[in-house]
Amino acid sequence: MEPDYRTKAEISAVLNRLKWCLTDLHMAGIKYWPMKPREHEATGVIENGDTPDQVKPEQVLIVIREDIGECTRCPLHLSRTTLVYGEGPPQARLVFVGEGPGFDEDQQGRPFVGRAGKLLDKMIKALGFVREEVYIANVVKCRPPSNRTPQDNEIATCSPFLFRQLEAIAPQVICALGSCAAQTLLATNKPISSLRSKKHYWRGMPLVCTFHPAYLLRNPSQKSSTWQDLLVVHEILTGYQEGN
Ligand code: URA
Repeated sequence: MEPDYRTKAEISAVLNRLKWCLTDLHMAGIKYWPMKPREHEATGVIENGDTPDQVKPEQVLIVIREDIGECTRCPLHLSRTTLVYGEGPPQARLVFVGEGPGFDEDQQGRPFVGRAGKLLDKMIKALGFVREEVYIANVVKCRPPSNRTPQDNEIATCSPFLFRQLEAIAPQVICALGSCAAQTLLATNKPISSLRSKKHYWRGMPLVCTFHPAYLLRNPSQKSSTWQDLLVVHEILTGYQEGN
């Protein structure tokens, strides 16, 4: 039976992840995987339809956005002006994940466009990118009232959409901004201070945690630690370039 469009999209996302897992193994020095030849290699017969259609990340991202719709799944919808889905190229090598929209983001429907966003722009520039080259999303897509931290039930309801976005994009690195993003992706309650500055993995993709730009605006003395975290991001990205 021909898989439907959504199934194809999810399969494509899994294949994307697998690609980066294999790249990681390659970089770790594992150049081949000893295995028996597949049936068609042994027989020389390739059946029609053996190669799955490639579903592009942009298609998957559209499907996820459609699934979210005019969301009313959690109480945050009651006070939101605009749902902030996330933005950036579907093929981005680097994805930043924040906590949730603030006032400006809620007004404009775009992530990180306020003061914290200006600092994020500088962090992006320090990595040698411009904003249009990276994907930016949040753990929750609607602004929590008075910019409070999202609650567990709100995170549990909304984060599966973020996870699907990350799987569709399958970036070379995910950078979690602040404890909410770091703890959600790593499924831990550990403080950001113990999670930052090292390489973690989220579903096979490298993940680096650092301080949230809004926290840095209040605590500028932590900026130097953040540059160290960005160096870890940079090293991973450079490794991919050299490995390819
Ligand atoms: N803070 C966040 O965590 N996300 C945004 O989009 C803006 C501010």
